[in-house]
Amino acid sequence: MTKIMGAGPAGLCAAINIAKAGREVKIFEMRSDVGMRFHPNLQGLKDVGNPEDYMKELNINPKTGFRYFSRAFFGTRKRDIELDIGKSMPFVVRGGKESLEYGLYREALDLGVEFEFNSRITKDGVDIVAAGHGGTCDAAALGMVFEDTDFPRDAFLIIFDDRYSPKGWYSYIVPISDDRVEFVNCVSQPHVPLLRKLTEKALQERKIVRGFLDGKKKVATFGGVGNVSVPKTAFINNRYYVGEAAGFQDPFMGFGITYALKSAKMAADAIVNGYDYDAMWKREIMPRMRKDFARRFPVSIFGDALPEMFMRKYRSGDRIDFQDVIPSSFPLYNVAEFVLFRLEVLKKRLTGFW
Ligand SMILES: Cc1cc2nc3c(=O)[nH]c(=O)nc-3n(C[C@H](O)[C@H](O)[C@H](O)COP(=O)(O)OP(=O)(O)OC[C@H]3O[C@@H](n4cnc5c(N)ncnc54)[C@H](O)[C@@H]3O)c2cc1C
Repeated sequence: MTKIMGAGPAGLCAAINIAKAGREVKIFEMRSDVGMRFHPNLQGLKDVGNPEDYMKELNINPKTGFRYFSRAFFGTRKRDIELDIGKSMPFVVRGGKESLEYGLYREALDLGVEFEFNSRITKDGVDIVAAGHGGTCDAAALGMVFEDTDFPRDAFLIIFDDRYSPKGWYSYIVPISDDRVEFVNCVSQPHVPLLRKLTEKALQERKIVRGFLDGKKKVATFGGVGNVSVPKTAFINNRYYVGEAAGFQDPFMGFGITYALKSAKMAADAIVNGYDYDAMWKREIMPRMRKDFARRFPVSIFGDALPEMFMRKYRSGDRIDFQDVIPSSFPLYNVAEFVLFRLEVLKKRLTGFW
């Protein structure tokens, strides 16, 4: 029997793929149910193209609806504009019974995967570690849910402003239902201890945020931390580390779901077919993460001046594809990316911070 620690997206995706190969699987989850890590909220899926096709590639079928917003309010320190974003960013529910993880849970149950809840186990007894950040905090996000706001339901808002989200991180508002929106602020270390204060400050000071949320009823708060690393190996003592437990997280925007799902599928394939897991993630995940690290380095130095620069050419009403905002092809792009990646890794080694 394959034993897995953690029923997040990574643990569930691994379990489903192993069960589909006809093997017995058991997941140990420290919480009392799936979907309890987050208060229900929407999280973006990056680099997936069509999310339904992406799930098929991963051999999973969570039967989760994806959400799109046709407009985005984009803010920098100096200005706020409204853009037409088409379908460039799918969102998925995290937390609760409508979530991605709950959809995966149902699929896993149908395949006969066993679950043991309220079971905080150690790594010793498992084959796959899918336990998330494991207490390491390289970045953190604080979210607040508000009721009865007139924030439009077909839009989200994203703001790059170092006064509230240093350095080069961001805050956002996303509508999560007809009567609720979430306001989330993200920062990386060493600013994490200030996160609550900075978030309150943004709510009080940033005009566009205040305009939508001032005086509205706050009904919940949620949040969490992220673990980012460049592991030498994710196969330690015969155990496969997947998702954030391995440090597969995006140090640029904090988008870890696709890394969690992809690495889990790879670990499952490695177990079922005897493939080399380290070789697989180094080939398919690391090149994408290298881009994230390469982007984090200049942003951690120049902060919100960079989003301002990249967005300068856009005016309200313009069409934008968020995947194309940062150029990914110019002469010597690969060399620049490699150098920036190395500098970011060096910076982490010297300062302790991404
Ligand atoms: C506020 C916030 C917003 C985010 N927004 C986005 C976004 O928009 N897009 C995106 O791609 N990513 C986003 N992320 C990151 C994303 O949520 C994570 O990268 C992703 O959930 C990682 O999946 P995982 O399966 O590796 O770990 P997790 O989702 O953390 O799942 C780990 C599971 O293991 C369980 N567990 C932990 N320890 C034990 C133990 N000892 N025994 C048993 N079970 C254990 C936990 O209870 C949990 O259920 C966000 C994160 C936060 C905090």
